[in-house]
Amino acid sequence: MHVLRSEEKNSIAFIGLGSNVGNRRDNLKKSIEHLRKNSNITLIAVSLQYDTEAFGYKEQPRFLNAVMKITTTLDPYALLNELKKTERLMGRKNGKRWGPRIIDLDILFYNSQVIECKELTVPHADLHMRWFVLKPMSDIEPDFEHPIFQKTISQLLEELNG
Ligand code: ATP
Ligand code: CA
Ligand code: CA
Repeated sequence: MHVLRSEEKNSIAFIGLGSNVGNRRDNLKKSIEHLRKNSNITLIAVSLQYDTEAFGYKEQPRFLNAVMKITTTLDPYALLNELKKTERLMGRKNGKRWGPRIIDLDILFYNSQVIECKELTVPHADLHMRWFVLKPMSDIEPDFEHPIFQKTISQLLEELNG
């Protein structure tokens, strides 16, 4: 596990959660509880939950989406690894992208870092076009600024809503 140097400890990250299989509310709750038990992760806030139409393949059940704010000593790659472990533990199979899933955990932001590599893009690539990300995130941190667009979450949400 990669652990950051002490001066870099307690980075802030926002995680997007989504579920459209089984008991969606329970799935969100269980994944939050599981991440919370990780001693390298501190839960700061959780948004309201939003019932939203599926993105990508529309012929699938609706999603329940939320966003959580954490602080963490994990670097972005180690954090992604923990999220993937949690997804697997909850029973997620390696299905198709944007397909139905018990739980989907995405890193939305990690401090104001910009990362573009094969397995990790931060800020999450499409988040500025996704109401189901911007809306819950605006519950907990409307003034957070997107490091690439240099616009706040509420500005991006306003632009999306037109
Ligand atoms: P989307 O990323 O468009 O929301 P998805 O969540 O359905 O689609 P997945 O099948 O869950 O996509 O993930 C595909 C891969 O995306 C993961 O294996 C992971 O390595 C990569 N990935 C890139 N950036 C991120 C990120 N910010 N958070 C989580 N996974 C990411
Ligand atoms: Ca996703
Ligand atoms: Ca994902």
